[in-house]
Amino acid sequence: MTLVVQKYGGTSVADLARIRSVAARVKRHVEQGERVCVVVSAMAGTTNQLVAWVQELDPLCDPAEYDQVVSSGEQVTVGLLAIALRKAGVPARSFLGWQAGIATDDAHGKARILRIDPEPLRRCLERGEVPVVAGFQGLGPDGRVTTLGRGGSDTSAVALAAALRAERCDIFTDVDGVYTSDPRIVSRAQKLARITYEEMLEMASVGAKVLQTRAVALAMRHKVRLQVLSSFTDVPGTLVVDEDEVVESQVVSGIAYSRDEAKLSVVRVRDRPGVAAAIFGPLAEANINVDMIVQSVSRDGVHTNITFTVSRADLPRARAILAELKDQVGFERVDADDEVVKVSVIGVGMRSHAGIAHRMFRTLADKGINIQAISTSEIKISVLIAEEYAELALRALHQAYGLDRA
Ligand code: ADP
Ligand code: ASP
Ligand code: MG
Repeated sequence: MTLVVQKYGGTSVADLARIRSVAARVKRHVEQGERVCVVVSAMAGTTNQLVAWVQELDPLCDPAEYDQVVSSGEQVTVGLLAIALRKAGVPARSFLGWQAGIATDDAHGKARILRIDPEPLRRCLERGEVPVVAGFQGLGPDGRVTTLGRGGSDTSAVALAAALRAERCDIFTDVDGVYTSDPRIVSRAQKLARITYEEMLEMASVGAKVLQTRAVALAMRHKVRLQVLSSFTDVPGTLVVDEDEVVESQVVSGIAYSRDEAKLSVVRVRDRPGVAAAIFGPLAEANINVDMIVQSVSRDGVHTNITFTVSRADLPRARAILAELKDQVGFERVDADDEVVKVSVIGVGMRSHAGIAHRMFRTLADKGINIQAISTSEIKISVLIAEEYAELALRALHQAYGLDRA
């Protein structure tokens, strides 16, 4: 019997009617002779609400308590879906992360899955029941609940597919596949029948939240067949595949954006060896990921400015850390701006084609959009711009690279 892992995101389980319709879909697969392991997210909006409550009480709160609160949305949906399945005549059992044997490291709020003991789920499947597993959560080495970072249910699903050696991992969501850009913003975006792991990885890492980055990385490593499709329709979705399975590849395959960016500028810091290490060391120790970095040319030969980006959630902690470093490192002040977005152009064709970056800069310049920072990888170029221009930039770039649907 084939085993498939199906993951349903927040909008797919947003209310009881949708939970019933997910149960009906699972039932169809079971009746077709498949064994199904389901992973669910919290109801749409729930996790945001839980995060907001925690932040209102204390933005610098203990991360283990953040996880205790923020993981709770999935507890509700696993139970509800198991009830709906049973009501529909499908034997089912719900599992929280720890009950499903999901062990993580102790990086609360962005924990990594270290291993999965597949036995509890195997036994459930052998009893002929559908396991319904809470996404986004696991158990840390300290015996506390951890969460895997926003959008982490995708990663739970892929990790379970690998651990259970499932035939496929189907990610059911509110769009019917991966598009050349976010279809909610770029109405002319086109659905991709296939996308390479590498491009999907890059697209996810620069903000295309249709899949969590770690989910794609895991799928790539464990060769999990991954598909993104809609929970509302029955049309084929997008397959994430190896590069040799893509017949016709474009130079640029997608344009992504991320609003989860905040810019910090350390102003008038002394221009001498060791300064960057003194600033970025303590940030790294606090588990704060720094993304784009720009150091401006020193005008007086003594001082310079260092500008970098962190995720918006990390901004309060990053500011607190920099404030403590002020006397030791020696700088004038720190400016912060969280009204910025990162826009990125992605494509494996970049390796062999010149002029991709120039077209990006030219297109933005023609729209009068100022670039505040740039970063590149082998198959991606990202720029930081003011948030107010995000949609304009996305649509202009989508057109400039010939991606618009006719
Ligand atoms: P779920 O709750 O099911 O996990 P998400 O909201 O996390 O769903 O991800 C789906 C959303 O991702 C879509 O509604 C869409 O707005 C957004 N998205 C961003 N970039 C893309 C893209 N390139 N293709 C498809 N969807 C995208
Ligand atoms: N509920 C979590 C979130 O909103 C996990 C997920 O949806 O994948 O981030
Ligand atoms: Mg998601």
